[in-house]
Amino acid sequence: MLDARRRACLEAIGIELWSRRLTDGSAVGANGRAQPGSPAARHANPKLPPPAVDTAAPPDTGPSALDQVSQLGWDALRSAVADCHACVLHQTRTQTVFGVGDPDADLMIIGEAPGADEDRQGEPFVGRAGQLLNAMLGAIHLARADVYIANILKCRPPSNRDPKPAEAEACTPYLERQIALIEPKVILAVGRIAAQWLLQSDQPIGRLRGTVHSYGTASTPLVASYHPAYLLRSPLAKAKAWEDLVLVSRILNDPS
Ligand code: SF4
Repeated sequence: MLDARRRACLEAIGIELWSRRLTDGSAVGANGRAQPGSPAARHANPKLPPPAVDTAAPPDTGPSALDQVSQLGWDALRSAVADCHACVLHQTRTQTVFGVGDPDADLMIIGEAPGADEDRQGEPFVGRAGQLLNAMLGAIHLARADVYIANILKCRPPSNRDPKPAEAEACTPYLERQIALIEPKVILAVGRIAAQWLLQSDQPIGRLRGTVHSYGTASTPLVASYHPAYLLRSPLAKAKAWEDLVLVSRILNDPS
């Protein structure tokens, strides 16, 4: 039986209770298929970072300095992002959007890039998409504060255009360091661009979702799903997003 809170969350998402179907979710599918030299490949074979030192001074944040990012602790990492000029997006941002949540979270949610609301507020997944994400988390008994939320890009692309590969490449060391510091039990990649970038795949999101991938040397389980902004435009996809959440919840609750 669904409890009242979960039922309310599902209704807030827009899932009709009679219509949801659960997949068995047990398939452990393709891994990241990292290409040589790609960010995922670098993630798959990193030099283990030394212990984080929060007192480290933020580096100069030109492109050559990004190699140092894998050694930063939280405070230095946040400062490095705030001062970053490694790609052209620094010219048009209002502020960087570092990420938010529990640094010890079991679940890390990764999206594409800040939008207008995020650029203004300095926090990822705010506005209507953020509210829907919060409701989706509630449906699996999680609060926003229980997870960590970040984007691949820390600066908003002008007019919400898609990130360019060079921008994602430049910004990925920050995300990789966030993942390394958090060591999540599972990553939920929301949206086509986040899923394709993290998995180094050109498959559509409809084919990447619904299974468990593996990310990085830690073989962190990664589930891909639809972006909440897409779900707002395409309510019929909510049932599949719910299936993906169930898959995430199953991994989170797996005692092994
Ligand atoms: Fe730096 Fe990332 Fe912002 Fe580009 S998007 S300026 S790499 S923080």
